[in-house]
Amino acid sequence: MTETAPPTAPVVDLLCVGAGFSGLYAAYKAAEKGWTFAGFELAPDVGGTWFWNTYPGARCDVESIYYSYSFSQELLQEWTWSERFAPQAEILSYINHVADRFDLRRHFSFNTKVTSATWLPDERLWEVTLDSGETRRGRHLLAASGGLSTPKDFDVPGLENFTGTTVSTSRWNIPLSDLAGKRVAVIGTGSSAVQCIPLIAEVAEHLTVFQRTPNYVFPARNAPLSADYVDEIKRNYAAIREECRHSLGGIPDRIPDAAAFDVSDEERRERYERAYVRSGFNGVGGEFSDLLTDERANETAAEFVREKIRQIVHDPKTAAVLEPRFHPLGAKRSCFGTDYYETFNRPNVSVVSLRDEPIDTMTGDSIVTEGGSYEVDAIVLAIGFDAFTGPLFALNVSTPEAGRLQDAWSDGVRTYLGVMAAGFPNFFMIGGPQSPALASNVVVTIEQAVDWIADLIGHAKVVGADVIEPTAEAQDDWVKITEDTVNQTLYAVADSWYRGSNVAGKPATFLGYVGGVGKYRRMCTELAKRGYPGIELD
Ligand code: FAD
Repeated sequence: MTETAPPTAPVVDLLCVGAGFSGLYAAYKAAEKGWTFAGFELAPDVGGTWFWNTYPGARCDVESIYYSYSFSQELLQEWTWSERFAPQAEILSYINHVADRFDLRRHFSFNTKVTSATWLPDERLWEVTLDSGETRRGRHLLAASGGLSTPKDFDVPGLENFTGTTVSTSRWNIPLSDLAGKRVAVIGTGSSAVQCIPLIAEVAEHLTVFQRTPNYVFPARNAPLSADYVDEIKRNYAAIREECRHSLGGIPDRIPDAAAFDVSDEERRERYERAYVRSGFNGVGGEFSDLLTDERANETAAEFVREKIRQIVHDPKTAAVLEPRFHPLGAKRSCFGTDYYETFNRPNVSVVSLRDEPIDTMTGDSIVTEGGSYEVDAIVLAIGFDAFTGPLFALNVSTPEAGRLQDAWSDGVRTYLGVMAAGFPNFFMIGGPQSPALASNVVVTIEQAVDWIADLIGHAKVVGADVIEPTAEAQDDWVKITEDTVNQTLYAVADSWYRGSNVAGKPATFLGYVGGVGKYRRMCTELAKRGYPGIELD
C-alpha cells in the first residue's frame, strides 16, 4: 500500500504498529467491523517474531496445535501442523497463509518504521510519524509491536574490536554452514540459545557457551504429528481451543491433584519421572499444586532436574556449571531443547560461567574474561530482549498532557488490564505489559485482547464517544492486582526479563499478570458487561 502525506492521506479508524500475530488479527477484526485501518511494519513482510528469529533450531515451545489462531474454524481445519513444535519456517508459512487467506497484507505498509506517535487533543486523533518523515492520522492507535521484538543491547565493552563474524539469534542472517569448522562462542543460555547450541555444536570446530544464568532445560520431545492424531485434534478443535481460552496458560490445563509433600518421596520421584517424559509447560513444573508458591516444594522439582543434568552430563565440573541454582523452577521461563545437556558431552563443546568470570572485553579474535582469554572466529549473541517496554518506548508515544509513555512509566509500568494506560487516550496495547501475555500461549492472549478492544471501540462508537481512556484509579487497581497476584508466587523472587532485571536501569516491575488467561478473560468480559467501569468515554 503506498502512503501519501497528509493532508491528502485519509484519517483512519485504526493505526497499527506491527504485522505479527497481533497486528494481523487486528487487521482482520477491523475489516470484519468495516473500520479503516493503516498498519506499519518495519520488516519487509508479515510474521513478527517468526520473520525475525530465523536462527538454527528456532521453533515454538507451546505446541503448534495450540500456538496458532482460533478465530476461524475453516482456518483450523485447513492448516495441518507437521510437528508437535513447528519450526520457524513453518510458523512463518502459516502466518503468510493467514495473511493471504484473509487478504490482510494490503492493510500494511512494510519496510516502514513508526518513529513517534502523538495525541492531538483538539482533533482527538493520533498522528504517527514514519521513518520516511511522512505522517498518518487515525482515531485509535494499536501497539501490536510485540513483547519480544526489541533485541537487548550487548553492553560488554569491546564488541566493536572483534573482527570475526558476529550474529544475533534475533536477527540471524547467515547460513549455519558459515559457522562450519569455526571456533564459535554462543553468549547466553535462554530459550534461543538452548535451541541453537546443539545444531551449532554439530558444525563448529569448537563451541564455547558463555553462560550467566543456568536455566531449567527440559527435553522438548518434538516429534512429527501422525495423521490419526491430527484428525482427532481437528474433530475436536473447537472444544480444545475453547478450553485453552479458559485455562491458566492458554493450553489445556492439567490440574495437579496434590501438593508436593502430600505424597511420599518415592511417589514424588515417580511422578516427576513421568512428568519429565511428558515434558511441556505441564511437565515437571506443573506436577504439584504448590510448585510455584512454596520454595521447599519447588526445590524438590529443581533438585530432580539437577539430578537429571548430573546423569546426562559426564564431566562433573561441567554438570555443576549447568545446574540451575539461582532461581526456583518456573520462576523464569523454562527452556525446552533437543539434546541440550547431551551436547556438553561432545569433545568440541565447553561452557564458561560468566558468574565466575565475567567478560572484561573483546579483542580482534578473543573474548577476554576475568578468568582467561577465549579465541573465537564467530560470536552468536543469544542475549534476549528488552521485553515489553523496549518496543513501546521506541514508539515515542506521547500526549501533550502526560508526556511520553517512558516518562509516565519512569518508576515502573502502569497499565489498565495491560491494554491501556491512563493519560494516553485511544491507545491500546495488544499483549502488552501487565497482560497475561508473559506467562501464556501468547496467541490466546492476543485474540482475547483484540476482541475486547474491538468490542470497546464498537461500544464507544455506539454511544457516540470519540475518546476512550481509563481512569487513574482503575489503573491503580489493576497494578495492585498484578502485584498482589505475582507476590503470591515464586515469580516474585526471581531476577529475570519477567521483571526487567536483564536490562540495566530498567525499573523493576513484574511485566505480566499471572492469574491465568481464563480468569483474566472472565474479568474483562464482566467489565464489558457492566459498561466498562474504570474507562471514561467522551
Ligand atoms: P511480534 O511477533 O513481535 O511482532 C511485532 C512486530 O512489530 C514486529 O514485526 C516488529 O518489526 C514490528 N514493530 C515493532 N516496533 C515497530 C515500529 N516502531 N515500527 C514498525 N514496526 C514495528 N510465544 C508463545 O506463546 N509460544 C512460543 O512458543 C513462543 N516462542 C517464541 C520464540 C521466540 C524465538 C521468540 C522471540 C518469541 C516467542 N514467543 C512465543 C513470543 C512471541 O513473541 C509471541 O508469541 C508472538 O509472536 C507475538 O506476536 P506479536 O504480533 O504481538 O508481536
